[in-house]
Amino acid sequence: MARLSRTLALLFVAAVPAAWAQRPEAQDSGRRILLAPDAVWDGVGDSPRRGWIVVVRGPRIEMVGPEEAAAQPPGTERIALPGTTLIPGLIEGHSHLFLHPYDEALWDDQVLKEPLGLRMARAVAHAAATLRAGITTVRDLGTEGAHDYDVQLRRAIGQGIVPGPRILTTTRAIVATGSYGPRRTDYAFQPPQGAEEATGPEEVARAVRSQIGLGADWIKVYADYRWGPNGEARPTFTADELRTLVETARGSGRPVAAHASTVAGMRLAAMAGVETIEHGDEGTRQVFQLMRQRGVALCPTLAAAEAYARYFEGWVKERDRPPPSVTAKRVSFRAALAAGVPICFGGDVGVYAHGDNVRELELMVEYGMSPLAALRTATSGNAALFHIDDRLGRVAPGLLADLVAVEGDPTRDPGALRRVRLVLKDGVRVR
Ligand SMILES: [Zn+2]
Repeated sequence: MARLSRTLALLFVAAVPAAWAQRPEAQDSGRRILLAPDAVWDGVGDSPRRGWIVVVRGPRIEMVGPEEAAAQPPGTERIALPGTTLIPGLIEGHSHLFLHPYDEALWDDQVLKEPLGLRMARAVAHAAATLRAGITTVRDLGTEGAHDYDVQLRRAIGQGIVPGPRILTTTRAIVATGSYGPRRTDYAFQPPQGAEEATGPEEVARAVRSQIGLGADWIKVYADYRWGPNGEARPTFTADELRTLVETARGSGRPVAAHASTVAGMRLAAMAGVETIEHGDEGTRQVFQLMRQRGVALCPTLAAAEAYARYFEGWVKERDRPPPSVTAKRVSFRAALAAGVPICFGGDVGVYAHGDNVRELELMVEYGMSPLAALRTATSGNAALFHIDDRLGRVAPGLLADLVAVEGDPTRDPGALRRVRLVLKDGVRVR
């Protein structure tokens, strides 16, 4: 018995550091901060509560409510934030910290010509810009050739070496062999790929498992891609391969996000059991109804669609009528809203500048969502979709103190999100 308990103790000791490394959380210093904005919006309610304050103790929220009700032991630091609304830290649903805007360098050139050290240096700067903008969590959907460096970056942030948001990692996306890029036909050499290739259920399962071993929180798969005979998007994996991928990931507690822009790809992904579909450009009423029935959320990436039109179609939004690509995007997004598909706040940031994440939220409003509904997706909504709502996404006692103060009322005016006055992550002021 003694030997057994010793063995168990050793197992426990061996297991703790790994779990700790994956989910770094600040220690409770016992230090209290009282934040006194004009109003507090909790991430869920219909409107901000005026005259409310928030007390933070160590990494967590201790109390939310009217100031009269708050105990203020000696030593409590009071931060007055006149003119601001305090909201939960924003949760970006679709980022690429290892990419920078395509009008600076094309995707192919980033993957082929930028050494990994340079890409990591960029990612460090991107993470800092993201956090300063009030985005305290990101789901990073693929390093695009930078291996598992998202896991390394998360570790550096967790150890306090560099500032940045908490990161839900995916390492590399998983793509059907031959379907992704840089395209082999375009080069005189074998170009490295921007994702991990696999063919057949066995290879797909191996890819999922090896990524989990490297530290992936989510699995990202491409259900379709532009590999048709005329460069059009077509499904990539078979239904069988996708089912195996989801089953393997889910068995280990990892959800799956699927890139899909075609109806066929979206249908395959939804039927296989993925939890979010990214882009959904050609989505129809029928396929959005299927998504709603199966509880699959849509990350519409409106901001990326507009960025592509600017970069590659010469569109000047302030001057020109929208090109067909943008008009189609608006139509499909409205169809998704009408069908009642859960919407994820995720813009594919990296295609455009990190720190400019709220561009997606502004477009969600421009395309037909209310500012309040859009802000919910970026806080409590994404927290629920990403299974982190037990600790993030709301301003409530016991949750982690990831908090942002912005000038004005962001539940009515998304522009307020660009006027960030304070950012707290894990109870520590980072801006
Ligand atoms: Zn993406």
